[in-house]
Amino acid sequence: MSVQVAHSGRSSTEPITHQRPSWPLQATYPTQALRFLQKLRQSNGDNDIGRSGSQPRAKLPLSILIVGGGLGGLATAVALARCGHSVVVLEQAPQLEEVGAGIQIPPNSGVLLERWGVMDHLRDRAVLPQTIRFRRWSNGNIIGLTKLLPEFEENFASPYRVVHRADFHSALHKRAIELGVKLLLNRRVVEYDPESPLVTLKDGTYMSADLIVAADGIRSLAREIVNPGPIGAPKDTGFAAYRATVEFEKIKKFPELAWVMETPNINIWIGEGRHVMTYPISAGKTFNMVLSHKDYSDPSTWNNDKILEDMKKEFTGWDSQLTTIIGLIEKAMKWPLRSGSQLRNWVAPSSKLLALGDAVHAMVPYMSQGAAMAVEDGAALAVVLNKVESYSDIASALHLFQEERIKRSGQMQDASMMNGHIWHFADGPEQEARDNAMRAEVIGQPFVSSANQWSDPTTQCWAYGYDAERAMQEAWGRAHDGVHGHIS
Ligand SMILES: Cc1cc2nc3c(=O)[nH]c(=O)nc-3n(C[C@H](O)[C@H](O)[C@H](O)COP(=O)(O)OP(=O)(O)OC[C@H]3O[C@@H](n4cnc5c(N)ncnc54)[C@H](O)[C@@H]3O)c2cc1C
Repeated sequence: MSVQVAHSGRSSTEPITHQRPSWPLQATYPTQALRFLQKLRQSNGDNDIGRSGSQPRAKLPLSILIVGGGLGGLATAVALARCGHSVVVLEQAPQLEEVGAGIQIPPNSGVLLERWGVMDHLRDRAVLPQTIRFRRWSNGNIIGLTKLLPEFEENFASPYRVVHRADFHSALHKRAIELGVKLLLNRRVVEYDPESPLVTLKDGTYMSADLIVAADGIRSLAREIVNPGPIGAPKDTGFAAYRATVEFEKIKKFPELAWVMETPNINIWIGEGRHVMTYPISAGKTFNMVLSHKDYSDPSTWNNDKILEDMKKEFTGWDSQLTTIIGLIEKAMKWPLRSGSQLRNWVAPSSKLLALGDAVHAMVPYMSQGAAMAVEDGAALAVVLNKVESYSDIASALHLFQEERIKRSGQMQDASMMNGHIWHFADGPEQEARDNAMRAEVIGQPFVSSANQWSDPTTQCWAYGYDAERAMQEAWGRAHDGVHGHIS
């Protein structure tokens, strides 16, 4: 297209060529103004990261060993296997197991799990909460309110889900097996050689591959190799959490608690130094609870026999409906909450070993995003490896991956810790200002910011509107093609 425009210094008849904007359109500033185009492309199946389009394939299929069969390791196995890599997962446990508690699957993780076919194995077991309700610690009054259904699905292409961990783990496992992933149990890695690369197992045997991915959790052996030294490594935060479940059959016996079961919601009671996060899991049959409190004691001194008694004491004087439910808990586990901060490196200098998941970005669970970050890690890794055409390309691809993922997960570590500050004010001016800053959402008035990070529009779009595959494609595009990352 050419147009004639009058312009000083140029003849009025000289044509100016208006170039078509680069596609997809990308802004250089924070905006949601272009989300409508992203949604349109998704609904048209106009990309090859969606299930509707062709399956993305690696140009150079690799043999990949993943150490750790937790949520992060299995999600990464699925992401890589669906691109044609040959994947073996080594898990130290004799059988696949997850803690008997719940987990939230926010849309930024759900959108990937849907695309990968994992959700087909999980949909029936997942609960879709309608809202997140912040409640005042002393009387349960609603002080913050995020609408999830249908808002999150409409805005972020996937609903907010809550599930039992075992169901999530089993869905990842089923999908991994369908994709040809080999899972070897009872294989404890005791040493990494990042140069070869190879791992030595507890029984003295060793295994090698083109690439080793350590998804070996918060006590990672690999973290020290990719990022020597204490900077960024997980530390005690002074918080601990009790995790427990109560069968709805038991709650039903208390008519004043009927509201807990009427509609599925996430309810969070917040007060000084403590909070209780609750939601239904197991297709709505079980009530999941995470009770967080300040605790500077050494976990090795914790007495398992006193856990229930200590937990009940922590919440004495809180909303009587909450304490009635706490009174129904028969068994609880106590966990120290540790958090790291941004590491410098996730990739060993050889570029043949990298770490991801809790191994490199442990965080307090206050944004409910730890496993979601590991799912995103797996997604981003698969995208950069799809671009690799020869072994010599792997180093630069992995460095781009680590740059994008360190930033994203580091910000999520910060956002998670921020909730620990926002939620835990003692009654007083800060608590009152916080509650006022959430008031508009409770009474249904428009707002441009909120002290509730699930509702705050900027935080919400950053946390839940992030598509790890698209973001990695775009980062690749910026690094290699100049302007934007075309989804190809
Ligand atoms: C109270 C609480 C609530 C949470 N809620 C949420 C939530 O709602 N949403 C969310 O997204 N996240 C949540 N999280 C965080 C989430 O649970 C973790 O981020 C996630 O499980 C980490 O997965 P991972 O695979 O990286 O590590 P892990 O789950 O720790 O898995 C590591 C695996 O590696 C294996 N392993 C370790 N070392 C070796 C070795 N040497 N050889 C072989 N195998 C090895 C282990 O046995 C294990 O199976 C929560 C965490 C807590 C504590």
